[in-house]
Amino acid sequence: MSAKEYIEDVLKFIRECSPGQEEFYQAATEVFESLTPLLEEEHKYRDHSILERIILPERTIIFRVTWIDDAGKIQTNLGYRVQFNSTLGPYKGGLRFHPSVNLGIVKFLGFEQIFKNALTGLGIGGGKGGSNFDPKGKSDAEINRFCQAFMNELYRHIGTTKDVPAGDIGVGAREIGYLFGQYKLLTGTFEGAMTGKGVGWGGSFGRREATGYGSVYFAEHILNKHGDELKGKTCCVSGAGNVATYTIEKLKSMGAIPVTCSDSRGTIHHPKGIDVKTLKAIKEVGRESLEKYAQLHPDATYIPAHQYPEGGHAVWSIPCDVAFPSATQNELTLVDAKNLVKNGCILVNEGANMPTTPEALEYLRKHKVLFGPAKAANAGGVAVSQLEMAQNASMQRWSFAEVDTKLFGIMKSIFETADETAREFGHEGDLLMGANIAGFRRVADAMIDEGAV
Ligand code: NAP
Repeated sequence: MSAKEYIEDVLKFIRECSPGQEEFYQAATEVFESLTPLLEEEHKYRDHSILERIILPERTIIFRVTWIDDAGKIQTNLGYRVQFNSTLGPYKGGLRFHPSVNLGIVKFLGFEQIFKNALTGLGIGGGKGGSNFDPKGKSDAEINRFCQAFMNELYRHIGTTKDVPAGDIGVGAREIGYLFGQYKLLTGTFEGAMTGKGVGWGGSFGRREATGYGSVYFAEHILNKHGDELKGKTCCVSGAGNVATYTIEKLKSMGAIPVTCSDSRGTIHHPKGIDVKTLKAIKEVGRESLEKYAQLHPDATYIPAHQYPEGGHAVWSIPCDVAFPSATQNELTLVDAKNLVKNGCILVNEGANMPTTPEALEYLRKHKVLFGPAKAANAGGVAVSQLEMAQNASMQRWSFAEVDTKLFGIMKSIFETADETAREFGHEGDLLMGANIAGFRRVADAMIDEGAV
């Protein structure tokens, strides 16, 4: 059986045994197809049934979350934790609270996380979780009660050497605080079973900034390789959450001009550069719509979502040199890719997980646009989460500068690993293939060492 047939067989199996999980198939197909040259060369992965094993989560936990809203009504949601692969260390990956969350989305995120974590070179396995709970429009007290109810089940499945969740969409500092508080109450222990904690109570300096800063460092490494740099470049960033905000902050400090941000309701275009203070005040403090940004900055334009181009997003029709999709999956479509190419974009660097659709990716490739794949470009967050675990375990506290220096070094090493691996397999510059093969090879070799488990 050829490598191609082996891959097709496993993908067929996964479609049959997990119906309706489109995002998961998308992620699995992208990773497996790019492994073809490795699987052609190395038969040991087939001999040890690695694809058949790596595609199945070690454990999937689905639970009911029951909580009481401010009106006294009992509400229910679904909770998930997919413990995908613990070959390299305790499961590690965020929790997402968003109405779109379902098992397929959690599995796509958990699957990606295995290889991302492997790429960091650190000792962490892959997992992901979340709920279809929508934090929007809820009071602080409701968020607190929901987080407590969610942790009432989750606590028995996590722990410092077992599974260490963090944040993701809809789970920021406030939610991590409420979740950790309940974990502490239920277990009677103060231990680093979650990351993204406040810096005053066990968190690491630099964790909040890590994914965005890391994404910018990764983009800079790509451009440097091509004799270029971010300084002076016009950049379009989507999203207005954790990843987008700190991407914009770091871009500005490096002399680039980030001219956009967006949320689920609309896009801001501010040609002189996004004002980070205003963005933080609206999103981190006020939790309001970006529409307010244009009221505070009359030289900025607000484009509501109903005015987006058919099949696309306003943020990608604004001319830029570098695009940083940093909101959510499949947010950069073929229509968007065509607009980016038409406007001369030279690099797409993925801050979000799987933000580029397969058709858009194909188009960018054809038009020789440089590409920073998510599992490499946004790995800074999980890397600093692991640094938080290390500080908790050794009861140490590192300064912001120390953590940031380590983050810069980790992003450089991830870039070099992906770049060298792509070259090794005759696909120079294909960082997606390089990242997938390098991450997979590290996990797969360890799976062989650990035997048939
Ligand atoms: P966040 O703080 O919750 O921000 C998410 C942003 O994306 C918000 O501006 C949100 O708009 C927007 N958004 C979410 N779903 C959307 C949708 N369906 N359509 C349009 N806009 C949408 O989340 P985050 O932590 O920045 O995560 C962003 C992405 O980065 C996700 O793909 C996540 O998996 C990935 N990531 C995050 C980390 C991390 O450390 N946080 C690490 C690696 C990867 P509203 O404000 O209107 O909700």
